[in-house]
Amino acid sequence: MPGTWNGILSTSRSELLTLDGLPWPVELRAHPRARAVRLRLDEARERLTLTYPRRISRRAALDWAQKQGDWVVRQLLRIAPAEPFRPGATIPLEGQDVLLHWEENLPRMPRLCAGRLECGGPLSAMAGRVERFLRAEARGRLSEATADAAARANVSVRSVSVGDASSRWGSCSSSGAIRYSWRLILAPPHLLRWVVAHEVAHRRHMDHGPQFRALEAELFGGNVRAARAELRALGPRLKRVGLGL
Ligand SMILES: [Zn+2]
Repeated sequence: MPGTWNGILSTSRSELLTLDGLPWPVELRAHPRARAVRLRLDEARERLTLTYPRRISRRAALDWAQKQGDWVVRQLLRIAPAEPFRPGATIPLEGQDVLLHWEENLPRMPRLCAGRLECGGPLSAMAGRVERFLRAEARGRLSEATADAAARANVSVRSVSVGDASSRWGSCSSSGAIRYSWRLILAPPHLLRWVVAHEVAHRRHMDHGPQFRALEAELFGGNVRAARAELRALGPRLKRVGLGL
């Protein structure tokens, strides 16, 4: 019955907001559970989302957002520049700098060779090939680390997949499907292992309570707080790798 859903559906539409003299597309979401008007910036895509409670009018929410130009500019200054996959660019891979080397006559399939990621074939296809290579590397490494942690925790994992969620490094469904951001392959290996430990610990505890934290720490075997802080600091850069022209 549609009426049943009335209370939990959120409506969404786009508007153009002028902030600091520049037009910004902003997605509007009237949400019944929102307590206050909130503006969020998707750093990787430079897109704004405005969430507001149902009791506030769209106009009032937009008026409020219109005054947040300073905040948006401050957030943008924090954002790392885009790092497209192009010849001569240096990208992080497992925390190490790797040079992207392209020559038309090299094999099309990217391969790691002495600190360089080499790729051949048409230049126009290079960025896509590099991203597919990195996603495959990420899937392999994350599957391996997840299987290892799951065996130690004595839990089952139904599936491991990689995607490109902008706000989360990993997620674990109650049915045991774990999904990670492929960008974890760019981070130093211990940060990937921490995210894996976190998601695998969710196979036993779906909350973030003391028992969950103890298992997460045990599976990770390192300093969880330090790892979280490190990934938070690195995040903006990792999320921009491969973006831009
Ligand atoms: Zn969690």
